[in-house]
Amino acid sequence: MRTHDVASIAIIGAGISGLTCATELARQSFSVMVFDKARGPGGRMSTRRVPELGAGIGFDHGAQYFTARSSELLTRVDQWFKAGVVRPWDGRLAALGPEGVEPSGREIERFVGTPGMNAVCRHLASEIDLRLGVQVEQIIRNARGWTLVDSEGAHHGPHDFLICSAPAPQTAKLLEREAPEIATRAAAVRMQPCWAVLAAFPDALSVPFDGCFINEGPLSWAARSSAKPGRKASPDRWVLHAGPIWSAQHLEDASAQVAERLLEAFFQVSKSEPHAPAWLTAHRWRYALAENALDEGFAFDPRLRVGACGDWANGNRVEGAFLSGLELAREVALVGSAFNEDLERRKKA
Ligand SMILES: Cc1cc2nc3c(=O)[nH]c(=O)nc-3n(C[C@H](O)[C@H](O)[C@H](O)COP(=O)(O)OP(=O)(O)OC[C@H]3O[C@@H](n4cnc5c(N)ncnc54)[C@H](O)[C@@H]3O)c2cc1C
Repeated sequence: MRTHDVASIAIIGAGISGLTCATELARQSFSVMVFDKARGPGGRMSTRRVPELGAGIGFDHGAQYFTARSSELLTRVDQWFKAGVVRPWDGRLAALGPEGVEPSGREIERFVGTPGMNAVCRHLASEIDLRLGVQVEQIIRNARGWTLVDSEGAHHGPHDFLICSAPAPQTAKLLEREAPEIATRAAAVRMQPCWAVLAAFPDALSVPFDGCFINEGPLSWAARSSAKPGRKASPDRWVLHAGPIWSAQHLEDASAQVAERLLEAFFQVSKSEPHAPAWLTAHRWRYALAENALDEGFAFDPRLRVGACGDWANGNRVEGAFLSGLELAREVALVGSAFNEDLERRKKA
């Protein structure tokens, strides 16, 4: 017995790709349900809230900013700006290397979510049916459609279409049995880890930049999270990212040890006076960026009615992920419309 008169679509992952795909399909009146294992939407565009530092105090510990070159994303950025969830970020950027601090070009317009990077995904999530805290462990396909089985053993479905927007290795594992062709494509993508350090200081660090690309030692990036638009300026809050090689070599190290080590490396490379942080932690991103992202846009099998999207399928980064979700939604909508017409015909027969 069907519960919907239109195609029902299950999407795994509430990052920017899954939510873009979901909102696009929901606006076309498909029945969409999104599942994510996390406590909030955002994926790698998340914001870590730290109530012990004060109400509304957070760190952008994943994506730091995004750029928009495509007309599709520029149009969305305009809408998100009007909704108050995006602002341009005109921070002072620098490059740090053996030569010291050099200013870095501002020729590219950079955007951040406000009041945190996760604001864009929260905004998108408000339009759809999102089930949080659901870790999908198994996927079952039978004549009735696609059913998701979570880590508690609960079944979600059946749904007519399935879309997976998890990072490549997780997509490969989830689709291995029921959609091996897509799983094989995802399995070919290697994803690099990233250790992120989050540090808060009672007194602002005296450095001549708000963000910097680092070309020496274990770090690759550092930014003053508290200087981005729409954030509380105090306490002074920094996010440091280790490069992929160092992160892979230290992937299983204890987070407290990683935090101390990378903070020390930051003071050294920025030639700033070491300060004791009021709060310090480290977050391990096991799948941060694809080393060999595909340029296919997305993967879709119209016969099985299953697809996959994400940055790994479309050249990496927020914009790649956004376009991947959007393009997959257009493809699914075409097949979904034919599916709906078929449902209508059968209902009348
Ligand atoms: C440290 C770091 C720095 C970055 N810096 C930048 C930057 O400055 N600019 C930029 O453009 N990009 C940056 N990126 C990349 C950018 O964050 C990603 O390209 C983009 O956010 C990916 O979106 P996505 O939807 O493809 O995947 P994700 O955001 O990873 O979303 C996938 C979602 O799937 C969920 N999921 C996975 N498995 C399951 C499961 N089994 N069951 C349920 N849910 C599941 C996850 O919880 C997650 O929410 C950075 C990434 C990291 C980690």
